[in-house]
Amino acid sequence: MAHAATTIGDPVSSAPPVAYDKLEEIFADIRGHVLYDHELHGCLNCGICTATCPSAQYYDYSPREIVQLLWTENLEGIYDAMQEKIWACAQCYTCAARCPFENSPGGLVMIMREVAIKHGMQSAKDVLRPFSRVLLKVISTGNQLAPNMITRDAFPDWGPDVSKVDAPLNILRKAIPVPTLHTMDTAWVVNLRTSVELYTIWEETGVLDQLETVDENLFDVVSDVMDEKREEYAEWLEEQEAEDA
Ligand code: SF4
Ligand code: SF4
Repeated sequence: MAHAATTIGDPVSSAPPVAYDKLEEIFADIRGHVLYDHELHGCLNCGICTATCPSAQYYDYSPREIVQLLWTENLEGIYDAMQEKIWACAQCYTCAARCPFENSPGGLVMIMREVAIKHGMQSAKDVLRPFSRVLLKVISTGNQLAPNMITRDAFPDWGPDVSKVDAPLNILRKAIPVPTLHTMDTAWVVNLRTSVELYTIWEETGVLDQLETVDENLFDVVSDVMDEKREEYAEWLEEQEAEDA
């Protein structure tokens, strides 16, 4: 296209300009998402979505603006919104329930986030970095919050109710009539086979590729954890076969 050599950029910013080809590539990925036509049908610019959006009350963020940028194919504006604004959405979908056009601004934001991750945008890396420990915990144990993580020190913002976590959880957990909950190190026990199946799903759906794009170090650690679990599972299967023989 005639735009090929064109770039955009803030003349008073030291940030590198973005080639128009890149903007088109990013929009093509958004437009080509399997859910895009389901989430956007037009836009009256009525602002009902923004009026009901909780994030719009607290941040410089407007779902109406996001939808308008997409509907009018404002490539520079879309790229600009992906630097910060899209990360303000709480994904509550109040907007989707209110829009007279049956758009889902929250769903469109979700698509833009996926594309931001795919393109390794710095905004995606910055937003996701604090969740590295959570991701590692989920991938290595199958669940996120373990009972032994619930301490006064870890949750000082819980206010006066934090005293309730002083209960003898290790004893209370053993009273639950579900054996997989008799643990303090994880929320529940996830067996090896389930873990290995989850890894396959993450690989096949591209989740691990996305992780590699935004955090290569975490990807390496996760890959090691996956290899270990797969080896463990293979050994367990061999033992079972030997016992059955
Ligand atoms: S409520 Fe729907 S039609 Fe109105 S501005 Fe928001 S997205 Fe557009
Ligand atoms: S899903 Fe996002 S854009 Fe929609 S109302 Fe909730 S916070 Fe606002």
